[in-house]
Amino acid sequence: MIGFAMRSDMKAQLLIKNGRVIDPANGIDRTCDVLVADGNIAELGRANRQLESAVPEVIDASGKLVVPGLIDIHVHFREPGDEEEETIASGSAAAVAAGFTSVVCMPNTNPTIENETDVEYIHRKGRQARKTHVYTMGAITKGREGVELAEMGMMSEAGAVGFTDDASGVQNPAVMMRALKYAEMFDKVIAQHCQDDGYGRDGVMNSGYYSTILGLPGIDALAEEAMLWRDMQLIRKANVRYHAQHISTAGSVELIRAAKASSLPVTCEVTPHHLLLTEECCADYDTNYKVNPPLRSSEDLEALRQAVADGLVDALVTDHAPHLRSEKELEFLAAPFGIASLECALALYVKALIEPRILDWPELIALLTFKPAGIIGIDKGTLTPGKQADITIINPNAEYEIDLDTFRSKSRNCPYQGWKVRGRVEKTIVHGEIRFAG
Ligand SMILES: [Zn+2]
Ligand SMILES: [Zn+2]
Repeated sequence: MIGFAMRSDMKAQLLIKNGRVIDPANGIDRTCDVLVADGNIAELGRANRQLESAVPEVIDASGKLVVPGLIDIHVHFREPGDEEEETIASGSAAAVAAGFTSVVCMPNTNPTIENETDVEYIHRKGRQARKTHVYTMGAITKGREGVELAEMGMMSEAGAVGFTDDASGVQNPAVMMRALKYAEMFDKVIAQHCQDDGYGRDGVMNSGYYSTILGLPGIDALAEEAMLWRDMQLIRKANVRYHAQHISTAGSVELIRAAKASSLPVTCEVTPHHLLLTEECCADYDTNYKVNPPLRSSEDLEALRQAVADGLVDALVTDHAPHLRSEKELEFLAAPFGIASLECALALYVKALIEPRILDWPELIALLTFKPAGIIGIDKGTLTPGKQADITIINPNAEYEIDLDTFRSKSRNCPYQGWKVRGRVEKTIVHGEIRFAG
């Protein structure tokens, strides 16, 4: 343990004392202090009294976890077009309250994010909100119609961190191949919502026993697996990084396992709902459980948890998908897909992965920080000195009930009301500023 040796030209801002500092990228898990200066991580070590009295703000983090700011690479903030459901401002406020210092918006807004002006619009709204760092992916195809490629080069230059037609998969293999070849030029990730519309375009829940007894059209596991399998063949012919969004079936886990075993440049993500809920939840026709990909079987859930345990999953994401109450109050067939879970995400990951001892804290934090950062190629997710100070302080033992009335999100389509959970975000620091204090 070393003392601080701060350079005299640095302006100390913030000292976080005595926390359990977990920085998985650097292999750090120890009790120490973190000094922030000029918006950046200055040093990890031990502050003496002299330094402590010179720092304008001191946080006592005894008994708390001090980790790199959390990163969610899959959120829907609904702006432009559906601002009554969420805005970049409301979504950003929800994000920092949940410990997320960086989020990636999906491009399935209205209009679609498909050129550089659209990308700049998202960035500007994010800066104006002044909460979390807001990134965006751009669409792969114009209007997400799966026909003509969007302005991927221009969007890449404007700072889009990847491309996806999320909420739809790119159906035509030749179009997908063109997208992969085109993306080779900019070293950005191509992300896919794997769903072959040939298997259940009209489905509203998992295809199986429950869809049969409920009389609802199903979305077969094959819809996801067929597209994922197809894409695994395509990426052998392109030099590009591929990311499978929200995988939900045991078959997808095996496809990812095989792809990684043959060193394909593939990553994947999993949501909290696919790690916690099954198709059985739809039995009362509660539309808060209507999500796409749908909640699957208990065997699928166990396979996803095992995939996390085996290190096959590269990122945990919420797929935060806010919707109006009036829309979710429609009958199951007509209601929109989606769960708004950003603000309880950390507690859900604790319940799904820490409490059953699938992961320990450093492993969980890795899936919420430097690993997702690597997928989208941003220099974030660590507490490395010199990097921007994005930091989340967590009370791992706080026990409470999830209360949707406390959410900053504009929407309440969340099935976790009243769940007893553990693990609460206490402070969120973005670029050296405290942007949330619980
Ligand atoms: Zn999706
Ligand atoms: Zn999504």
